[in-house]
Formats: sequence, structure tokens, C-alpha cells
Amino acid sequence: MRNVPASLALAGCLVALACAGPSQSLRTPPRETVPDWETPPIPESMRPLVKVMPLPEPTRPTPPPRGRVEAQPLEDDPSVRILSFTTPRGQPVTLRYKQKSRSVGRTNRGHLEDGRCLPNQGPGFVHPGDAACGTDETVTLVLFAIGEVMRDYPDTVPIVVGALSMPTGGKLRPHKSHRSGRDIDFGFFRTGNEALHHFEDIAADRIDFDKSFLLMANLIATGRVQNIFVNYALQSRLHQAARDMGYDDAQLSWLFEYPRGRKAQAGVIRHAKGHTRHFHVRFVCPTGDSTCDEL
Ligand SMILES: [Zn+2]
Repeated sequence: MRNVPASLALAGCLVALACAGPSQSLRTPPRETVPDWETPPIPESMRPLVKVMPLPEPTRPTPPPRGRVEAQPLEDDPSVRILSFTTPRGQPVTLRYKQKSRSVGRTNRGHLEDGRCLPNQGPGFVHPGDAACGTDETVTLVLFAIGEVMRDYPDTVPIVVGALSMPTGGKLRPHKSHRSGRDIDFGFFRTGNEALHHFEDIAADRIDFDKSFLLMANLIATGRVQNIFVNYALQSRLHQAARDMGYDDAQLSWLFEYPRGRKAQAGVIRHAKGHTRHFHVRFVCPTGDSTCDEL
């Protein structure tokens, strides 16, 4: 496990009010390398409080939660959600975030109220498009998972984030969903740590499946992912990356539709037509958001 440059380590807990680890002591790892892309300042609105997580020791991957993990309302302030889970690296984490947003209706019919929006770039990502808004939970978990990838790959180029939802959600061409702040598209990482600036056609052998799967694994570990949609043709390589990370057969079978065929409708990671240049993550309804419809 390499040390994380201090500026990048911030992303690990960018939106967390508290991150519990094996040790609560905070430390600033020494700066070793400087990435060749600028890390812009973190917008004030996106960092209620920034803390640096202690780096975990490498371990076998923690089994992903089967079923969802519910975020709990804070007793003193029910608008604050507390979500506790274990990262694939075996580190217990507690994220806290204000939940003002509402994901109204279904992802293919609904809209978004009081969403939280990503800037065009931030620690570990670029977002070239307009549809940058999601629920408080979506944005919190996305930034958390990107930060986790940066801890394993401190020199990584940023991931290209595609569409979330428009500020008030609703129809977003050419997508069928992406209407209620619970959907987000990600590009793949490319081999050789070559930067991408938008979703590009890249041959399958130029996709960095290990790094791309690590992002998926960190999202799934939150217990708040409903499904990840990616073309079946790419699933065998992702499946191998997951196996290489240490997931066993039972875990792989829960994680992937592969090798049961593209119509199996099983596994968190499922086939969707297209989705060869990017993958689509859909989160479950935020805990306590009675306006949200998962069907
Ligand atoms: Zn999508």
C-alpha cells in the first residue's frame, strides 16, 4: 500500500463528517509524488468537515454486504444520515451527510428536489457535462468511492464522470433514466494511467479492469447500490479483476451476472445494451425518502 499525497488523501473523507477506522488518529502522509493534473480546491459546500483517514492494511476483500445497508438518522438532527459499512480493504467507515434532497418517483419518470451538484472537476474526477446533480447520498458515496480509488492509486488520472441528473431532475436526453438523482455514469480507467476527457471508444484490452472494478467494489461496499449496468461482453474481465482482488466464488456469484448469460437478471453487475465505453450505477432509494420509488 503506497502513501497518499496529502492533497489527495483529503478526498478519502471529502464529504464525511466522521470516518471511523482501526485507529482514530489522524495523520498526514508524506507527499511523495505530484500528479500531472491539478487538484482544484474542494468547494466549501462539499466539505462539511475534511478529515484524513488512516490508511488500512491490505487484507483480503471484505465480503460485500448482501442486501442493503440502511443509513440511520441522527437522533439530535434527523436530517443527518449516518451510514456505516466496511470497505473492500476491510476498513470500517462511518459517513455522515445532510439529507435535504428528495429523489421523487422512479428513475425513469421522476425528478429531483434540492439535489447536490458536482463541479466540472474535483479530486479524482472530471465531469464535462451539464447533468451533474444527484441526491445528497449519491454525491456523498460517489466522492467517497473515488477517494478510495485514489488511496490505492495515488497518482491516478481522474475518472470521467458522465451524466447524473439535471438540477431538478426530469427528462434527460438521450437517457431513459437519470431523472431522480440516483443514476450516474462513469467512464472506465484506461491502461497505462492515460487520461480520458470524455467517454471514448477504447478497445477492451485498453481498459484498466482492475482499477475500474475497484471503483465498482467501493461503491457496492456502501450497501447502497441497486445495480451496476455494463455490457456483458466486458463482464468476464471485470469478474477476473474481482477474483484477482480475492473475492471467492460465492461473492462473485452475488456480484456478477456473468457467467450466467446476459439475460440472467442476476447479480449486482448486469448487462445493459451499449455500455461499452462507460458503466451506469444506480443507487437504491435514500433511507427515509418516502417520495422515492424503486420500481
Ligand atoms: Zn446511464
